[in-house]
Amino acid sequence: MGYCTTMNKVGSYDTKFDVIVCGGGTSGVAAAICAARTGAKTLLVERTGALGGQMSVSGPPGFAYARLFNPQGKRDVGGFLEETYQRLYRSGHALPHLRYPVREKAGYGFSYVDPDWWTFLIYEMMEEEEVTLLLDTLVVGVTKEGDTVTGIVVENANGRNEIAGKIVIDCTGEGYVSLQAGVECDIVPRDDVQPHTLAFTVDGVDWEKLLRYVRSHPEQFSFKQLILPFKGANTQEDVVRMYERCYDIKELGELMGFYELRDIALKNGDWHPFSGAGFFLTPKEGGHIQAHFQHSSQVDNCLATDAWDLSRCNIECRKQNMIAWRFFKNYVPGFENAYITKVCTEVRLREGPRIIGDYILTRDDVEEAKQFPDTIGKSSFKAGGYHVASMDTLNHVAATGSSVKQGDVIVNKSALAYPKDGGSYDIPYRCLVPKKVDNLLAAGKCVSTDRPAYLRYVHQTMVTGQAAGTAAALCVKKGITPRQMEQDVSELQSTLVAQGAILFECPES
Ligand SMILES: Cc1cc2nc3c(=O)[nH]c(=O)nc-3n(C[C@H](O)[C@H](O)[C@H](O)COP(=O)(O)OP(=O)(O)OC[C@H]3O[C@@H](n4cnc5c(N)ncnc54)[C@H](O)[C@@H]3O)c2cc1C
Repeated sequence: MGYCTTMNKVGSYDTKFDVIVCGGGTSGVAAAICAARTGAKTLLVERTGALGGQMSVSGPPGFAYARLFNPQGKRDVGGFLEETYQRLYRSGHALPHLRYPVREKAGYGFSYVDPDWWTFLIYEMMEEEEVTLLLDTLVVGVTKEGDTVTGIVVENANGRNEIAGKIVIDCTGEGYVSLQAGVECDIVPRDDVQPHTLAFTVDGVDWEKLLRYVRSHPEQFSFKQLILPFKGANTQEDVVRMYERCYDIKELGELMGFYELRDIALKNGDWHPFSGAGFFLTPKEGGHIQAHFQHSSQVDNCLATDAWDLSRCNIECRKQNMIAWRFFKNYVPGFENAYITKVCTEVRLREGPRIIGDYILTRDDVEEAKQFPDTIGKSSFKAGGYHVASMDTLNHVAATGSSVKQGDVIVNKSALAYPKDGGSYDIPYRCLVPKKVDNLLAAGKCVSTDRPAYLRYVHQTMVTGQAAGTAAALCVKKGITPRQMEQDVSELQSTLVAQGAILFECPES
């Protein structure tokens, strides 16, 4: 990365834009950069002072980036995500794609990027594409003429102001802007919603000591994500062997379980029962790695759209994190001299409103590995895996007879679906277009899906972000609404393909 002499157009006090992107998380940065790149005068408005959302401000995600190859070993995510990966890889801030045979067969490979350098890169790309940034600014509403959105209302240190936009994109994660615009949304009730989490990172681990424990206790870890219900898929023995023979901890990517130690701690009153024990690995400069704890606190019954719930969640998460951390220090080999380096400032929100769009992607679409004529990207991520903090969290899951285990990722058997034959499904453009309201698009977590098919993973949010930004810019160029674009998505698709996105055949790689 070179030294940049140009400044973002901050302080321009412009009040008219072609495209306004609300929210600067993984979907929002992809949307803004791709809108600007497609020729739109673009504004990105972000509530905090930092870009990155769940990637860096409340993250990193445990597996950033992951699942870029389906269980057939074919690449199904490219485009903006790949561009950022390549740039970080070249500058020494990403690890090579982790594609060991056991992971390959499960489509659960990691492509680790350093989230802090990811954020530096994103700021640099904003400058390159001349996106105007308005940070520390909350979008509190939209302006509308009838059912057509004409701009946004913001509140910040400058007071309350309106900014006009030809197309507005909701990348707030929780559909805040869509709700303000009167879009119908699917909101999981408070007593059913998945728990939220506060993440922290740790340095000073004696990795060799930990690895010796892992190799000699492979049965103490959870690896069900690596065993899929396909012919020729991994067996339990394959995965155990991978743990027994691991000599580089980075190969494991995550360590979840520590069952025996956790159960002793539970008996001693040294563990809280709301989450499983474990962490992910994050790459740092010079080949260093950090342990990243993203599931050590899980607080249920909190609506992402209720500040009182979020306040309670923040308080409780910190208590649970302290308990979890003491457990690692006192019980887990290798953590004796470890120390916390960062506690995220924002809670990671696991589940929020989803818009009702012109198409609702379903669990059955995922299972069929369905292809759509208006595809804007692909995914091979399963549908229907839910996190649970307590037995009350997902009552409906218990009702279906699935095996619910406290503090674990649970599976509603009737909701669970893997794309058939280890393939990938398409994400249709219509999932980004809210019903009734015009000149508004959604990207990221809040796009239109049923609950099991929730497109909330980082790679999925970047795919929908790239598509929404590109579509918005093309709509402005053509003078049409996003809904009118549904009639002919050919230019959108060819533009995305030219940007490296994977829409049709998944390349063998
Ligand atoms: C505990 C947990 C673990 C996860 N682990 C993984 C993982 O391992 N791998 C993976 O791929 N995914 C993981 N995810 C999912 C993934 O990290 C997120 O779902 C994804 O990053 C969301 O992207 P987004 O752009 O939709 O929203 P966000 O990243 O949440 O971004 C939304 C942005 O909008 C801003 N905003 C919100 N409201 C407003 C407003 N009114 N005005 C202005 N700005 C606003 C926010 O400040 C934020 O910056 C995990 C999620 C959770 C909760």
